[in-house]
Amino acid sequence: MSSIRNSRVSRLVRRVAVASILTGLGGVVVAPPTAAIAQSTRTVAQQGTTPSAADIQRALNAAYEKYKTLQEGKNADYIPALAKVDPNLFGIALVTADGQAYTVGDLKTEVSIQSISKVFTLARVLQDSGEAAIVKNIGVDATGQPFNSIVAIEQKKGFEQNPFVNPGAITATSMVGGANASEIWSRIADTYNGFAGRNLRVLEDVYQSEAATNQRNRAIGALMLAYGHISANADQATDIYTRQCSVGVNARDLAIMAATIANNGVNPLTKMRVLDTQHIPGLLAVMATAGLYDDSGQWLFKTGLPAKSGVGGGLIAVSPGNWGIAVISPPLDEAGNSVRAQRAIADISAALGGNPYAVSRTGVAAGQLGPPK
Ligand code: GLN
Repeated sequence: MSSIRNSRVSRLVRRVAVASILTGLGGVVVAPPTAAIAQSTRTVAQQGTTPSAADIQRALNAAYEKYKTLQEGKNADYIPALAKVDPNLFGIALVTADGQAYTVGDLKTEVSIQSISKVFTLARVLQDSGEAAIVKNIGVDATGQPFNSIVAIEQKKGFEQNPFVNPGAITATSMVGGANASEIWSRIADTYNGFAGRNLRVLEDVYQSEAATNQRNRAIGALMLAYGHISANADQATDIYTRQCSVGVNARDLAIMAATIANNGVNPLTKMRVLDTQHIPGLLAVMATAGLYDDSGQWLFKTGLPAKSGVGGGLIAVSPGNWGIAVISPPLDEAGNSVRAQRAIADISAALGGNPYAVSRTGVAAGQLGPPK
């Protein structure tokens, strides 16, 4: 909460800095960052200031140039359509919580959203059924297993998993309300469209390709039904899940979706609320715990950013209260996460001071924070 409040204060500071005055905001006295701006050789994060538009664009450009020729990793091929996507596709977009968009590279080409969809279906279920339903029926713990592990189901009879591994995700999809498949699908599609601020479409070739090869996911759905987590229609849930994974997104769409989370559930471009504020901390917690499969701990250790990857090559990350970022680059590492996307987001966030755990202690030292006196 306080980091969000501070970032709002920071944005305000940027506006009043023009007048070069000392400003009292809610009892916090802040100096405009004029001294820091002069020290242009230090990164924004080192300077401890709010990044300017030029700082943000510079950070995006630098990451793009640095990684565009990196050839590590390999497209996913267990879904045949994904193997055909151009591995050189590389797009980066960052959208601030107040709706400024920064981009570099390919912003037009759509890839399938894949597992990043799990974030937004979870948002739907949190909004409709609340936290307790997720914690009880699926869990919010890391499994330490690959995202499509059946062992992880067997170990705890389908409990104590999370909504970002396939058993939890297919179960979450089964929890979306609706009288029939088409009503459930509309509810999911409307949710994604609200986060993205435009009508997304299903990439039919990806859907057909995965539907023809998703025997393992159908087995996972059947097991979750057998253990009582899915109440009925496991095949229908798996089919709708396959469809949600095939929604086409470009880097800008994904960044807006991430920025909507960074902006506490309000899409910063359309200004529409798509998720109540009370659900944001839980959503971010699951992203932090399980967003990059079994490499989630390493990612969090390095960046501190709640994030989510998909085997289509997308990766989103959120600096709460500040910005959402997305990178699309299809070649993946062993854990199934985009190689260039991880490197680019880690660099950009480091340059912009995006790690929410790297809190300045200045306020405490100055006696400005703490319980009310
Ligand atoms: N549709 C994919 C699957 O179920 C999503 C996986 C992913 O992106 N990790 O296998």
